[in-house]
Amino acid sequence: MAEQHGRSRSRLQALDAAHHLHPFTDSQALHQKGTRIIEKGEGVYLWDADGNRILDGMAGLWCVNLGYGREELIRAAERQLRQLPYYNLFFQTTHPQATELAATLATLLPGDMQHLFFTGSGSECNDTVVRMVRHYWATQGRPERKVIISRHNAYHGSTLAGAALGGMKPMHAQGGLPLPDIVHIDQPYHFGEGQGRDEHEFGLERARQLERKILELGPERVAAFIGEPIQGAGGVIIPPASYWPEIKRICRQYDILLVVDEVICGFGRTGHWFASEYYDLQPDLLCMAKGITSGYMPLGAVAVGGRVAAGLIGGGEFFHGFTYSGHPVACAVALANIAVMQAENIVERVHTDTGPYLQRAWASLGEHPLVGETRGLGLVAALELVADRQSKRRFASGLGAGLVCREHSFDLGLVMRAVGDTMIISPPLVITRAEIDELVGKARQALDLTYQTLMN
Ligand code: PMP
Repeated sequence: MAEQHGRSRSRLQALDAAHHLHPFTDSQALHQKGTRIIEKGEGVYLWDADGNRILDGMAGLWCVNLGYGREELIRAAERQLRQLPYYNLFFQTTHPQATELAATLATLLPGDMQHLFFTGSGSECNDTVVRMVRHYWATQGRPERKVIISRHNAYHGSTLAGAALGGMKPMHAQGGLPLPDIVHIDQPYHFGEGQGRDEHEFGLERARQLERKILELGPERVAAFIGEPIQGAGGVIIPPASYWPEIKRICRQYDILLVVDEVICGFGRTGHWFASEYYDLQPDLLCMAKGITSGYMPLGAVAVGGRVAAGLIGGGEFFHGFTYSGHPVACAVALANIAVMQAENIVERVHTDTGPYLQRAWASLGEHPLVGETRGLGLVAALELVADRQSKRRFASGLGAGLVCREHSFDLGLVMRAVGDTMIISPPLVITRAEIDELVGKARQALDLTYQTLMN
C-alpha cells in the first residue's frame, strides 16, 4: 500500500514538475523538493498522497469555513449544474440564484449596503473597486478624484489592480507596479514597526498618515481609502483600537470613500458576519470572496452602500463585468453555505464559544521561549517568533525561522502558515474544541522542534 502511494506520488510529482507552473512559487526550489499532493478532505482534515492525515489550520487559503465534504454544498452544486450550469447577468438578464444571493447578502451586510456586484474572485472584486470608485466620482462631476490610498504590506489580490492596491514590495517589483494614482501609507503593525511605543498613540499616528497623504495630494484628487479590517496575508495584523475610528473620521472629514476588503474577514472569521461590525465601520464599498462559498466554488462580490449605489444607478452604463460574474453554480453553493451557517449558528459559535476558546489556548503559546507575541480574534490568530523573548529581538532574516517552524508543523500533521517569522492560523469555522486542542498542541510541538533546530 505504502509503495503504491509512493509510486502514484512520484508519477504526479514528475508530471507536475514537467507541466505545471504554480502560483506564488519558486519553481526550481519546488522541483528539488517535490510537490506536496493533497488528495482528500473531510471536516477540518486533509489527506496527502502518502495517506497522512493533516489538520488544516488555514482552511485552505482562509476559505473552507464549513470544512471539507459538506453534503449540503455538494448537493446544491449538483442540483444547479443540472438545472442551469451557466448563464450570464449581462444584457438585462438575471437568474434566480444571483438575485436570491444579492437579496440574502443585503440582509447580512452592515450599514446601508443593499446592492451587490458579483465577480469570480477577491482580486476581481478589487479591480471592480478601482473602476467603480473612479466611475462613481465621474458621475458626481468629479473625474479628478482618482487616487486610491492603500497600505504597505496590504494584500488585495494578484491581478494588476489587486496587486497595485496591495502593498507587497516583491509583487510591485515584478512588472512595474503600482499603477498610477494608487499610493500607500504605513500599516498599523505595532509588533513589527512600533516596538516600545504606546499602542494607542502608534495606532493614531499610523491612521493620521492618511490625513497627511490626503493633504499632500490635495483632497480634491483623492477618491478612496482601502484596507483589510485585519490584514491577513500580511501576517494577521490586528490594528490598535485607536486606528479604525481615526481612519473613519479622516475619510468623513475629507469626503473620501471608505472601502474595506473583507475577503478574509467576512463570513464569520472574526465571530461576526463581517469585521466591519466589530470595528463599527460603515464602509461605502465592501469586498468579499473565499468564505462566501466556503471555497467550494469561485465567487466574489462587492457590496455597495447607498451613496455609491445611487451614483452608479443614475450614472448610465457601467462598462464592467466578467463572464463568470455571479456564476449560477457558485451562487447556489453560496446560498447553501449561508443557510448552513445560519442553521448551525456558526457565527454565534465562533463569537461566544470556539473563538474565545482558541484565543485562550493560543495565548498560552506566548509563554514559549520562541514567542514574542500572540494575537488573534475569532478564529484567526498569529504569533511572532523571536530569538530573544525579553528584548523581542527577531532572528536573522537569512535563518528562515518561520519556514523551519512551518515544515515542523506540517511534518506533525498541522498546516500552519509562515509570513516571514510570523506564524498564522485560520482554521475552518466548524472546528471543535477537541480539534482546537489538537491544533494548539501541534503548534506547541512545532515550536519545541523549531527551538531545537535553531538554538542548537
Ligand atoms: N483580498 C484579500 C484581503 C485577500 O486575502 C485575498 C486572497 N488571499 C484577495 C483579496 C484576493 O483574492 P483571490 O485570490 O480570490 O483573487
